[in-house]
Amino acid sequence: MTEQTEPHINFIPSKSALSWDEYFMLQAMISAFKSKDPATKVGSVFVDKNNHQITMGYNGFVAGIDESKVPWGKDKSAPLEFQKYGYVVHSEANAILHSTRSLEGSRAYVTLFPCNECAKLIASSKVKEVIYLSDKHQETESNRIAKKIFELSGITYRQIDFPSSVLHKLTEHLQNLLTDI
Ligand SMILES: [Zn+2]
Repeated sequence: MTEQTEPHINFIPSKSALSWDEYFMLQAMISAFKSKDPATKVGSVFVDKNNHQITMGYNGFVAGIDESKVPWGKDKSAPLEFQKYGYVVHSEANAILHSTRSLEGSRAYVTLFPCNECAKLIASSKVKEVIYLSDKHQETESNRIAKKIFELSGITYRQIDFPSSVLHKLTEHLQNLLTDI
């Protein structure tokens, strides 16, 4: 018996420019870009097991407050009342607060390794995995506590290697989109 093969008409080799990790980390990076914090812009994206985004956030002042009445400065010689730390909600906390769905079993993509306060929220939300870009505060107590919380909660965490070639491809892509207008 001879096997009938269908003709492959108009088939063109094609693949995505991004892995899932790169796709969601890029979204977290774009979310961070929206932050008004002049010193540290952080973004996060929570994703379900089907690779659908559930929620995203960036660090910003308490929603709805008059932002002209609170400072962005982080000089710790001033009282907390006159430091940003008194009023800023972290990106992970914002994403969790604004999620309309359960985050149980989700993956969290964060541009910066979470602090211990956000680790509490992430663990309490039953997130399964944390994927981060930078861990520049790894010498701090907050960072050590965050890792302890993740380990005690069975949350795995890993750093993503984000190749700069993705940024070049993205720039080219954006330029192509703008040229098409
Ligand atoms: Zn935090």
